[in-house]
Amino acid sequence: MKFGGTSVANYDAITRMISIVRGRLDEKPVVVVSALSKVTDLLYKISDEAALRNRAGAMELLGQLRKRHLDLADELMPDSPEECRDAKEKINGICDSLVSFVDAVCAVGELSPRSKAIIISNGEYLSSNVICCAMNASGIRTNYIDARRMIVTDDDYLKGEPDMEAISDKVPGVVLGAYEYADAVITQGFVSATASGEPTVLGRGGSDYSASLIGMAIDATRIEIWTDVDGVRTADPRRVDNTKCLDRISFEEAAEMAHFGAKVLHPLTIEPAVRKNIPIYVLNSMNPEGQGTAILQSSFIEDGVKSVSCKENILVINIFSTKMINTSGFLKKVFAIFSEYKVSVDLISTSEANISVTVDASQDIRGVVGTLSEFAEVYVDSDKSQVSVIGKNIVNLKGLLEQTFAPLRDCRIYMISQGASYVNISFVVDRSALTDVVRQIHKYLFEV
Ligand code: ASP
Ligand code: MG
Repeated sequence: MKFGGTSVANYDAITRMISIVRGRLDEKPVVVVSALSKVTDLLYKISDEAALRNRAGAMELLGQLRKRHLDLADELMPDSPEECRDAKEKINGICDSLVSFVDAVCAVGELSPRSKAIIISNGEYLSSNVICCAMNASGIRTNYIDARRMIVTDDDYLKGEPDMEAISDKVPGVVLGAYEYADAVITQGFVSATASGEPTVLGRGGSDYSASLIGMAIDATRIEIWTDVDGVRTADPRRVDNTKCLDRISFEEAAEMAHFGAKVLHPLTIEPAVRKNIPIYVLNSMNPEGQGTAILQSSFIEDGVKSVSCKENILVINIFSTKMINTSGFLKKVFAIFSEYKVSVDLISTSEANISVTVDASQDIRGVVGTLSEFAEVYVDSDKSQVSVIGKNIVNLKGLLEQTFAPLRDCRIYMISQGASYVNISFVVDRSALTDVVRQIHKYLFEV
C-alpha cells in the first residue's frame, strides 16, 4: 500500500491513512510512504541554497522542515506521550544530521549528486518515522524498515536503476523479519541504495515505483497506490472538464498513459507488476470507499479508447540528410548519439531524407544537436506539445482516426506517429493550441 504526499500531508490525511491500513491488517500490508506533500520540493530548495553557500537561507528552510514534523507529531499523538516523544526524538535526530550535512555542503560550496540524494531522501525518512509512531500510538503494532536495506540500484544517485534480482533477493527476508511481532510494516518510497550501501533515490515521483518493486519481490496479491484522485481518468481534469474515471485498464494502457503525460503513476511502476502479473489499484485516500482504477492483464480489458493524454512541453528535432537515401546504418548512427547523451526519445517518424523525433523539453539536447550537426542538417522546433490517444487495439477501431482528427481541421499538425503496439496514436501540435485540441478530442471520443 503506497500513500503519496497528499495522502500523508497532515493530521487529517494521516488519520484517514491509518484507518485505511487498519482495514487491511489481516492481509499483512507493507506500507510505503512518500514525504509529506511539498517536503521533497523543500529539500530540493535546501540543497540548492546549500550549493549556493547560502547557509542562512538553507537553515531557515530546515527550521520550517523540523517544525512542520514536530507539530504534526504533537497533533497526531496528544494522548500517547511515549510514542510522541519517540517520534520527536527521531525527527530531531534526522534534522540534526541534516543540519550538519547541509553545513558541510555550504562550507565546501559543492553539491555532488550523491550529497543531493542524501538531502532529498530525508522527507521519506521523516514521514515514515512519524507515521510509524502514530500507527503504534493508534494500537497497530508497526515495525519500521529502512528501504536502503532492500531497494538496490546502480550508482546513478538521483535516478537509480533498480537491480531486480538483488531486490527480489532481499525484500522478502527483510519484510518477513520485520513482521515478527508486528501487525504492519512501514518503509520509505523513493529511497534506495547501491549494492555497497551508497545512498541513491529512484527519481521524482519514485515512491510508486518503490511500491511495485516491493510488491513484485514479495509476490503481493495486489499493489495499491493511494492518491488524491478517484483513479485514472480519461484526461487530465485540470485541463479538461467532464473527464470520467476508468474502472479498469491494461498494464500496457497504463504504461502508455504514464509515459505520455498522465500524472497518476510514475511511468516505471507498471513493469515490476507485469513481471509477476500483480494487479495495481489506483485509489483515492479521500474517498476510500470508491472503486478506483484497476490495472490488469490485457485479457481482462475491453478494446477501445481509454484516454487522451498529453505532454505540454516537448521539442521536435528534425534531422535532414541526403546521405540517408538508399543507405543502411544511418538510423543506427543517429540513435547512437541520443543514447550517448542519454536523451530519451518519445515519438519517431521518418521519411526518405528526414527523421523527426520528439523529446521532453526538460532534457539537455545541446550535445545531441551539436554531434548530429556534424553530418546532417538539424532544426529544433520548440513550444510544441504532444497529444496521445491511448487504448487497447484502437488501431482496429473503425472511424477512430476520423474522430480523432476531425476536430483538428484548422490546427497545424507537425508529426504523427502510430505505434505498432495498437495502444497509442500520437501527434504534435503547437503548445498554444494544446488545451483546445485535447478538449475537442475528448469531447468527440468521450462526451457523445
Ligand atoms: N517524495 C518524492 C517526490 O516528491 C517521491 C514521491 O513522492 O513519489 O518526488
Ligand atoms: Mg506521485
